[in-house]
Amino acid sequence: MAAPAPTLNKSAPALEILGLHKRYGDLEVIKGVSLTAQDGDVISILGSSGSGKSTFLRCINLLESPNQGQILVSGEELKLKPNKIGELVAADNRQINRLRSQIGFVFQNFNLWPHMTILDNIIEAPRRVLKQSKAEAIEVAEALLAKVGIADKRGAYPNQLSGGQQQRAAIARTLSMQPKVILFDEPTSALDPEMVQEVLNVIRALAEEGRTMLLVTHEMNFARQVSSEVVFLHQGLVEEQGSPEQVFDNPTSERCKQFMSSNY
Ligand code: ADP
Ligand code: MG
Repeated sequence: MAAPAPTLNKSAPALEILGLHKRYGDLEVIKGVSLTAQDGDVISILGSSGSGKSTFLRCINLLESPNQGQILVSGEELKLKPNKIGELVAADNRQINRLRSQIGFVFQNFNLWPHMTILDNIIEAPRRVLKQSKAEAIEVAEALLAKVGIADKRGAYPNQLSGGQQQRAAIARTLSMQPKVILFDEPTSALDPEMVQEVLNVIRALAEEGRTMLLVTHEMNFARQVSSEVVFLHQGLVEEQGSPEQVFDNPTSERCKQFMSSNY
């Protein structure tokens, strides 16, 4: 099936994915997924383990190379070209680096640099990529650490923090790059239960301030509360998509019904 044409108007969506495909060898795990996030949208992506949620998110930020599809940030298409094995890779490194820096990614396992303090973790990319001065980057980082509630941890190393604190630091690091869109891949799945809420509260606050986010999560109640739209993936395809009320309460697809009855 042909992908829909990109939206061409002044108020382009924050993020637009058109006809994305990804395969690992002979295994096609994303089979043509399109998704549009307008400014301020919070789109939750649900689905069973192995349905392709992480692969889809990772392709958007080119942590994995898609095989087919288009990715647009605020209407600007990432310039990609096929390599020898049929994966799409950067055709213009400067453009890709610029656009990738506008797509924040929050990992399940935080991915903080262990040998750097929390403050250094946060100021590294703004200094290197956004060319901020050290003083400016520190000022921004301190404000972000306060925002996520760990201002006192600026000089600590990641392994001196709890999982919840590390994830909040990772979110602060992502915010420091002033991303247009933030992708969260199961941001609370690696946390002890008592720390889940503190991270969800930070994400909720971001939703309330109008951030555009894609959120892969198994926190169903939370997804229902914060999402403007919910997408249910099954075997690499969008199986159901709609408002939280629609997808949680009145799914039409049998698979989504089953998923909801065993997970929600
Ligand atoms: P989810 O995040 O929904 O659990 P994934 O995107 O991690 O699903 O995985 C989708 C499918 O792709 C699974 O069958 C998984 O085994 C496969 N897969 C994921 N990453 C790789 C990889 N690097 N190499 C080969 N297969 C992979
Ligand atoms: Mg996953």
